Amino acid sequence: MTRKPLAAIAALFVCTTLVASCTVIDLAPIPNADVGSATPVTNVEMVSAAPAPGAMTAPAAPVEMASAASSPVLAPAPMTSPAPTPSPALAPTPSPSAQMTAAPPVTLGFPRVSLPRFGSRDGGMPAEEVQCRKRLKRLGVRFRDIPAIHDSASCGIDYPVEVSSLGRTIALKPAAKLNCAMAEEAARWVQSDLAPAARVRYFSGVAEIRQISSYSCRRIAGSRTMSEHSKGNALDIGAIKLKNGRVIDVHKPGLFAFRERSFLRRVRGEACDHFGTVLGPGYNRDHRDHFHIDLKQRRRTACH
Ligand SMILES: [Zn+2]
Repeated sequence: MTRKPLAAIAALFVCTTLVASCTVIDLAPIPNADVGSATPVTNVEMVSAAPAPGAMTAPAAPVEMASAASSPVLAPAPMTSPAPTPSPALAPTPSPSAQMTAAPPVTLGFPRVSLPRFGSRDGGMPAEEVQCRKRLKRLGVRFRDIPAIHDSASCGIDYPVEVSSLGRTIALKPAAKLNCAMAEEAARWVQSDLAPAARVRYFSGVAEIRQISSYSCRRIAGSRTMSEHSKGNALDIGAIKLKNGRVIDVHKPGLFAFRERSFLRRVRGEACDHFGTVLGPGYNRDHRDHFHIDLKQRRRTACH
């Protein structure tokens, strides 16, 4: 008699616990599913739609708002959301000013970080090349940038300039293709030494420098070494024309050409203060009719 009631009570107890667990198991996924699907949507919708409530889609926004506000099950929602910061910011949604202040730093941050601003302005030219061109302009040198020259592994100029004058009134003919450093030093030499030397001896300024070679992909004559011309680092000057019309050819002056000899010797000697190599008439047959000047780096200038 006593066993049957006990068994009935036990069966009833088991049944109620099973039912309870079944309801818990059944109910649990529902809020989880809602929270999981709802939170990302609310975050997106709230951020984009809050400033313009009229743009909200009728079903989505109220559902998200209601569930977030009323159901306590959604309390752990921020835990599942990847970005916890939006939800505190979203709490005072009615105030758009909070979003106004939150948004600009994000959009303004990117332009400040973009560093290649200078590269794009100067075409990626190294700072030294940019500075060199500024100095050329201050010297009154007329030049233009021309496309990079890469004729071979040992011939070329990365940032060549085509120079048509070595001063405001001193033309360079024909226009020479040089690297910027060579153009600058040639202009300094012509302006500080060559032009004053002509004024002293001929009472005239220099009208033009006649060059016979600038950039040229070639070896030094009788050698396997590449010439400095192959890097746009050298200039050959064949004649100097003065403003009074006189033309002074670079050659070995006649025995009684005192003024010409003095001028050419002076100009050639002063070039040694500017360049790594200075060669001219008397050095060898190849240089009998021009001055060769280049910026080759040497311990001592090769001044011949
Ligand atoms: Zn030369």
